[in-house]
Amino acid sequence: MTAATPIFARVALDIPIAPWFDYLVPDDLVDRLQARDWVLVPWGRGRRVGLVIEVGNQPELSPDKIRPIASLIEAAPRPDAAWLELVEFAARYYHRHRGEIALPALPRLLRTPPTARARGCAFERARKRAAVPAPIASSAAPASTELVELNADQQAALDALLASKGFAVHLLHGITGSGKTEVYLRWMAHILARDSQAQVLMLVPEIALTPQLAQRVGERFPGLEVAVLHSALGEADRAARWLAAADGRARLVIGTRLAVLAPLPALAAIVVDEEHDPSFRQQEGVHYSARDLAVAAASLRGIPVVLGSATPALESWFSARRGRYQVLTLPARATGAVLPNLRIVDARGAPGPASLTEVARTAMTAALERGEQSLVFINRRGFSPVLSCQSCGWLSQCPDCSAYRVLHRTGARSRGGARYSLQCHHCGAASPVPRACPECGNVDLQPLGAGTQRIEQELVALFPGARVGRLDRDVASRRGAAEKVLDSFHAGTLDIVVGTQMLAKGHDFQRLALVVVLDADAGLYAADFRAPERLFATLTQVSGRAGRAAPELAPRGEVIVQTRYPEHPMFAALKAHDFAGFADALLEERREAGLPPYRYLALLRAEAAELDEALAFLAAAKRAAAADGESWSEITIFDPVPMPMARIAGRARAQLLADSPSRQELHRFVAAWLLRLDELATRVRWQLEIDPNEI
Ligand code: ADP
Ligand code: ZN
Ligand code: ZN
Repeated sequence: MTAATPIFARVALDIPIAPWFDYLVPDDLVDRLQARDWVLVPWGRGRRVGLVIEVGNQPELSPDKIRPIASLIEAAPRPDAAWLELVEFAARYYHRHRGEIALPALPRLLRTPPTARARGCAFERARKRAAVPAPIASSAAPASTELVELNADQQAALDALLASKGFAVHLLHGITGSGKTEVYLRWMAHILARDSQAQVLMLVPEIALTPQLAQRVGERFPGLEVAVLHSALGEADRAARWLAAADGRARLVIGTRLAVLAPLPALAAIVVDEEHDPSFRQQEGVHYSARDLAVAAASLRGIPVVLGSATPALESWFSARRGRYQVLTLPARATGAVLPNLRIVDARGAPGPASLTEVARTAMTAALERGEQSLVFINRRGFSPVLSCQSCGWLSQCPDCSAYRVLHRTGARSRGGARYSLQCHHCGAASPVPRACPECGNVDLQPLGAGTQRIEQELVALFPGARVGRLDRDVASRRGAAEKVLDSFHAGTLDIVVGTQMLAKGHDFQRLALVVVLDADAGLYAADFRAPERLFATLTQVSGRAGRAAPELAPRGEVIVQTRYPEHPMFAALKAHDFAGFADALLEERREAGLPPYRYLALLRAEAAELDEALAFLAAAKRAAAADGESWSEITIFDPVPMPMARIAGRARAQLLADSPSRQELHRFVAAWLLRLDELATRVRWQLEIDPNEI
């Protein structure tokens, strides 16, 4: 190429205003720069990391306005074409720009432009770290781990997986403890052995669970490079592991939702464990579903994907019922244990809405006497969800949110001097507990209801001598504290553990006999249409922690679910361990109500200082949609309404729902609508979400 023809590059940046930006390719890069290279480009007075999407000689701007690329980030591997296709798919599907998908997927260290002093070093530094084997699990473990013999159902599932060619979605529906993980491990072993380059991606919902899983994997695949990717890692560590994955050196990549966008050059298979889990939904920036993107990635690469769960998402169940996904069923527990016996107990007789009933106390006493462990589940952290004045009705409302501030014990219980504060779980603000009611001066303020801390206190009082532990996000925020509780419970040095859903998922507690669920009603009559599905999943998960050990080692597990609505049909299905019946009935309800998966949703959210402002914007947005020349006969646009949490941190929030029986039509509509929304000059902050998780 002669120097006379200037060459330009289209570069995607994480900036919402345009799909790409034109840059001049400097002479020294003309022969080297290619699509999918990572580059540093000038932006305003600073620099940014960008992704080259095209190199050519036809800029959109007049060439004299175009600035040159600052540098090529040589240490960053160039992702393969299939990865860019996935980014493009996500950008189209969620109606955002490629840069808004691709750049946030980079570890922060790699997407932060280097300072002038440390030019271009982040990648190189990370690469040096990556040269040292990543500190995961014990690759010193014995090379010949005794493998259990698969049972017939597991073998059938594995055979089906091994027989699948090209793109296929398998829904591994296995009850809790049925040996799904064992099936994933065998399948992954086959794929890794079949091709010495192949990479496998395993997505998991919870960071708290990855250490146990990583250890199990480390023991199973000694010597194999495994990269564990999650957001709790230090930045340098995360960058090093990401590079190992992107280089193709890490053969097995285990990660939370962000890992789905890691460029894996030799990706040969994907596992999504606990595929129903809401944490697969990205909540910042582009709200994508990592499970859905995993399926898209598999389709684009022509490889198989396994979605595993005891309680599949209704969308997945629907696809299975329609024959789009292949169902593999593990109907029994792998150790031979039977599912726990489940009792639904009317909580209206309990001293408080979230305290232990007589039935639960008796069962816990009996478990303690037999030397068995119990787990008490309450999905609410803190001491009490609200502080109240009995004399005038004052409640500890957060001044900035439509929520109460939660009473938290902040001082250590054992040191006698318990201190408390009021904390808002939505805006994060905290305030001291008032000495007297701010309204009437009454000094006798009462906590209403209970959270994990209060239950812990109640358990200590009820069962003197029992060793009681607690696990929730407050505990987990102290480094190593969550691991300590889990390790003690595994080791049997705790008799009772109380906690939130952090305790519910994935753990294989071998000595746990009894699970007590307090206040199972939160969610039963919630506004969100997915609430019953979620509650069923959570209760199934937490129940599934009980009685997992082989029958010759431990008695059948027991679960006590306390509720004020024992006659609710969901509990009958839960008691019968009948997910299929429950899911089919729920699907029928969704069909009648015109809800997903029978219809497709787009949700426009607006945020402003005043609710009226947000609602007015949404009303204008609705008019803008109608003003379109097209009739959009297959689109329904509902009225703007305040969100269930109408105010957070002083900002009013409202939403407008659009839906359609046709996915294609919805996307066509949204694309046209967005152009008009961009024209509405407004101080309102808004965002459009496809397939919203909550409405
Ligand atoms: P899931 O992922 O379905 O919850 P796991 O794979 O963790 O189940 O298995 C649950 C327990 O059963 C584990 O302790 C595991 O070692 C054991 N297990 C799995 N498969 C078998 C088998 N075929 N025979 C005996 N035990 C098994
Ligand atoms: Zn008062
Ligand atoms: Zn608040």
